[in-house]
Amino acid sequence: MIRRWLLLAVCAFTGGAIGWTFMPGNGLPWGLLLGVLLWQLLDGLALQRLLRWLRSEQSHETLLLMARAQPQLPGVWGEVADRVRRLLKKCDQQYGDSQSRLQEFLAALQASPNGVVLLDAQGRIEWCNQIAAQHFGFDAERDIQQHIANLVREPAFNAYLAQGDFSREVVIPGYFSTPARPVKLSVHASAYGDNRKLMLSRDITALEQAEAMRRDFVANVSHEIRTPLTVVAGFIETLQNLPLKKAERERYLALMAQQSQRMQSLVNDLLTLSRLEGSPLPGATEWVASTTLLAQCEQEAGALSSLLAPQGHCLTFEAEQACELAGNASEIRSAFSNLVNNAVRYTPENGVIAVSWTVLADGRGEFRVEDSGPGIAPQHLARLTERFYRVDRSRSRETGGTGLGLAIVKHVAQRHGAELKISSQLGRGSCFRMIFPAVRVRPLASA
Ligand code: ADP
Repeated sequence: MIRRWLLLAVCAFTGGAIGWTFMPGNGLPWGLLLGVLLWQLLDGLALQRLLRWLRSEQSHETLLLMARAQPQLPGVWGEVADRVRRLLKKCDQQYGDSQSRLQEFLAALQASPNGVVLLDAQGRIEWCNQIAAQHFGFDAERDIQQHIANLVREPAFNAYLAQGDFSREVVIPGYFSTPARPVKLSVHASAYGDNRKLMLSRDITALEQAEAMRRDFVANVSHEIRTPLTVVAGFIETLQNLPLKKAERERYLALMAQQSQRMQSLVNDLLTLSRLEGSPLPGATEWVASTTLLAQCEQEAGALSSLLAPQGHCLTFEAEQACELAGNASEIRSAFSNLVNNAVRYTPENGVIAVSWTVLADGRGEFRVEDSGPGIAPQHLARLTERFYRVDRSRSRETGGTGLGLAIVKHVAQRHGAELKISSQLGRGSCFRMIFPAVRVRPLASA
């Protein structure tokens, strides 16, 4: 400020001195006036430069440029310019901070396992993350500012948004849903700000499938138990109400025993499955000899064969190299006997059944059951290990099958890191193989 007045004084003094020197008499006031006018002119020019600098368009980038291109002005205008520059710098810093916070926030939303869409008051997309783009088939950049109703054409979804009752969620098919691979999305909107909406989407396909499987499972179990239960209840009623001869009574009692045996097998298999699902994975500390496993299977298969087929089967059991297998002995035994028993149950009498244990060249161990039975058509192979899936329903029931045998085998294989391979030719026979990883196989000698 002092500089400003000093400049005024210098201008006035110089003007006055010149006037007084060159125009004695009234030259002094004219000189002073001229000096003041000169000062006014210089001051006006400085102000003009400052105004020009400030009037430039004030986008964030211009503000930054302005801060850098601050004019070098003398006196008070220089100070004004300097203060404006400092203010701009502070603004820039605050803008940078809020930008980086916004980016962090968006990165967090981007990392969300759910789809996130922000809608403005008119229902136009303001922002969406990649998961939402995938769920609804958006282009996360191109579709910004597009109305959501133009992109998601599902009537249930549009009714949900229009209704404005966001206390519940709406379930709609995903953008990539096809009849062969259905995708189900659960969408939940919440209102915020001035009628804006936050939309969260969740892929619930697996959940829905699990729920459907649970329902099917309960229905199947009920159905499987109901049939023998009805038979037993019917016989009990007959025995209670009719005066039967001894032979008849015994026949009925035998049928009742058969049906209760069927229920018992079913309950046992269900318990085995639930144990397999609920217990920790078997480690590699417990070892069981392949010969022991094969001997147990042979004994069981022999007994079953003579029970089901009067003329028996041609059964061979062969362990190429005696070794040990790591895992849960009772689980492995149950899987092996399920495969061998199936071969016996489905192969007609006099058929050939070959069971073997082989250590493969890469150290893996293969348990193989091959039969000359009826074989299985290719379309059934992929579904054989599903619970209660049966190809030959009547043969399964006749021979005491529960429809859970191969499901148990698959579980045991998975828990031991083994592969279950099934190959079959209709009319020629089937081959079931369980291949254990090399880490679970060791020669018997090193035990
Ligand atoms: P089940 O108790 O009915 O035998 P599984 O789960 O053990 O149930 O087998 C599923 C179905 O696979 C059986 O119902 C049967 O139709 C078929 N299957 C299993 N093993 C054989 C086999 N060795 N030969 C022919 N069909 C078989």
